[in-house]
Amino acid sequence: MMDGVRVTTCPVCGGSQFRAFGEAPWRPPQLHRWQSRCRTCGLVLAQPQASDAAMAAYYDGAFYGTLWADADHLHEETREWHRTRGLPHFQQLWNGWDVHPPGVAVDVGCGYGGLLAALRDAGWTGRGVEPSARAVAHARAQGLDVVQGADPSAFRGANADVAFAWHVLEHVRHPADFLRDLVAAVRPGGVVGIGTDAIWTTQHVLQRAAARLRGRMPPYRTSTDHTFVFTPQLLTRLLLAAGCDDVRVEVYSERPAHESWHWRAYKGFCRTMDRALGWGEFLVAVGRRR
Ligand SMILES: [Zn+2]
Repeated sequence: MMDGVRVTTCPVCGGSQFRAFGEAPWRPPQLHRWQSRCRTCGLVLAQPQASDAAMAAYYDGAFYGTLWADADHLHEETREWHRTRGLPHFQQLWNGWDVHPPGVAVDVGCGYGGLLAALRDAGWTGRGVEPSARAVAHARAQGLDVVQGADPSAFRGANADVAFAWHVLEHVRHPADFLRDLVAAVRPGGVVGIGTDAIWTTQHVLQRAAARLRGRMPPYRTSTDHTFVFTPQLLTRLLLAAGCDDVRVEVYSERPAHESWHWRAYKGFCRTMDRALGWGEFLVAVGRRR
C-alpha cells in the first residue's frame, strides 16, 4: 500500500478528476483502503492501487493460501452454483445468439476450475488460465486444461465460442485492456460472459448516509481486493469499446439461505428497493463480438 499506484486516467472515460468515495479499516494483508469515484463517468476505483508486486504477493499468498484455501470444497461449490444458477443465467441472457455446445469455452481467472468443470458437464471443451500455481495444480488434478498466466491474452486468436471472466474484472489493473483481450479470444459472433460486483445497492446508500450523519467517510463498496467497481452502463460502455456489437447486462442480488428475521426484513426492504431502482449487488453481462 505504501508504494501504491495512483490512477491518473479513468479507464472508462479518460477523465482525470476523482473524488473520495469510501474507506475501509486497515487490516493487512488487504490490498486497498480508499476508494474514489470518477467525476465524469461515476466509475468507482481503489485509489491508490496496490503495486504489481503487492498484488502478486497477495494472490500468491493470502488469497488462495488462507482466504480461499479449501480447494476441494470451493471447486465443488462453484461447479454446483454454475450448473444450477450461473450457466442458466448466461444462457437466458444470450438467448437468440449463436452460442451452444459443443464448442470451445475459455475461462480467464478460472481459480480451482469450478466453472470449467460445469462447462465440461454441459458439453463444452473448456480451457482456463489462472495466475495462482496452487489453483492451477488443483484444476489440472481434476483433468482440466489450464495454463498458468495472468490475463486473457493467453487466448488471443483462440477462436473460442465463448470466453468467461467470473469475478475477475474487479481485480485487474487495466479493465479496458482486459476486456479487449477477452473479446479477442472469441470468434466473430462469439460471446464473452462477465460476472462482477455493482456499485449501487440500497443497503450501501443507507450505510453511506449513516456514515455521513456521523461525520465519517462512507464504507468501502465491495471487497478491498477490488480495483474497480462498475454499473451496468459503465460495463456496457467498456464491452462495446472492446469490440462487441451487442451487450446485455443484468443486476441481481444473492439471497442467503439463512437470515435472522430482522435481517431478513431489512434486507427484504433493500432488495425490494433495489429491484425498483434497477440496483443490486452483482452484474452479469454478455457481449457478442462484432
Ligand atoms: Zn470516468
